[in-house]
Amino acid sequence: MIGLESSVSPSGRGAPSPSGRGAPAGAVAELYRDLPAPALLRAMIRRVFPGRVAVVSSFGAESAALLALVAGVDPAVPVIFLDTAKHFPETLAYRDALVGRLGLTDIRVVRPDPARVAAQDPDGDLWRRDPDRCCALRKALPLDRALEGFDAWITGRKRFHGDVRATLPTVEAVDGRVKINPLANWSAAQIERFGRARDLPRHPLVDAGFASIGCAPCTTPITAGEAARAGRWRDFDKTECGIHNAKWTRQ
Ligand code: SF4
Repeated sequence: MIGLESSVSPSGRGAPSPSGRGAPAGAVAELYRDLPAPALLRAMIRRVFPGRVAVVSSFGAESAALLALVAGVDPAVPVIFLDTAKHFPETLAYRDALVGRLGLTDIRVVRPDPARVAAQDPDGDLWRRDPDRCCALRKALPLDRALEGFDAWITGRKRFHGDVRATLPTVEAVDGRVKINPLANWSAAQIERFGRARDLPRHPLVDAGFASIGCAPCTTPITAGEAARAGRWRDFDKTECGIHNAKWTRQ
């Protein structure tokens, strides 16, 4: 449970309102969800959760916009990267280039527990047999560990991704933490324009038809007319890795 203190309204002025420590996560979500992305990030990073919020980024096709906005507020905000050991080499190179370009200073590369990997995925092909278990092993469990000590985290999900993301709020309360989705209501064209205006580097696989980029074994390019995430787990009845599910749904 996050605590209650502070007297800062969403505008930064005026009457007392919940800030991070002590306020129920739901109250924070309710109070701040209508702010546009830059103002929302400023409020969450500087006033509501100072030192207690992290970004989780896959350094994928659309990651640059969110990371640029965060860096504009505070480049020292921790950025968690889940290194599943299954990423494209292009993603790792892009991560390093983008971090340098934006001046991000606290990149936390989080890896799965080697003992669990040895026990559950000794041949490295669990993704083929049971991708849900593979995502739990290589993403969800490491993220749970990495988020210990944080009251809130920032994600790059958007409504135009469709499926369960179609009604995504900009701020939500999950498992006692606040999840901030500043770009939830941004369109693909908006993100593209933002990136061009700031001359942000693009993930090198975007021009090869990859509209959403995750682990290499589970990501394919899309063809014209397909949804952005159609290339993820293409041969499986699976659309999400599970890190955004509430804990009880992934146990
Ligand atoms: S995306 Fe694929 S390889 Fe990556 S953790 Fe999930 S199942 Fe495993």
